[in-house]
Amino acid sequence: MTTYDIKTLENLWEGKLSAGELRGIQSKFKDRDRFWKFLDYCQARVPWTEKILLPLQPHLYIVQKPDGQRVVKCDCGHEFGDYRNNWKLEARVFVRDSDETLREIYPALMHSDPEWMILREFYCPGCYSLLETEMVPPGYPILFDFQPDLEVFYRDWLGKAL
Ligand SMILES: [Zn+2]
Repeated sequence: MTTYDIKTLENLWEGKLSAGELRGIQSKFKDRDRFWKFLDYCQARVPWTEKILLPLQPHLYIVQKPDGQRVVKCDCGHEFGDYRNNWKLEARVFVRDSDETLREIYPALMHSDPEWMILREFYCPGCYSLLETEMVPPGYPILFDFQPDLEVFYRDWLGKAL
């Protein structure tokens, strides 16, 4: 089984691998300690010390607070609250729901009809990083992308109790 060093994992996460390198990694079995190596990499990147339990995306992590709470936290330090709640409800949102706002990012005639589909952009209130986007019909509820079962993930997939 191939194992990868932390620099390769960093390049994987940052999207800096060539298509060939990426395909080579994706087509093989993951090394057994990949998750732990990746957690170490993420922990070393952030300026705070709470333990990362699970990275959600390049800026957001589920972390363990000293009081036992598990919250979604941005790499800038902003906390979005309990991980079982949708962090997007605590984000800054910009809605592109007009020709004018959609044309800021799409060429003319290349965007959806805002009567049928809008673009929501979710930003961190702490650092204003763009965290997520979603294309939805106007009035559609905000999507809750992912609510992991941390206990089961750690116990059944990683063989370790939380
Ligand atoms: Zn932030």
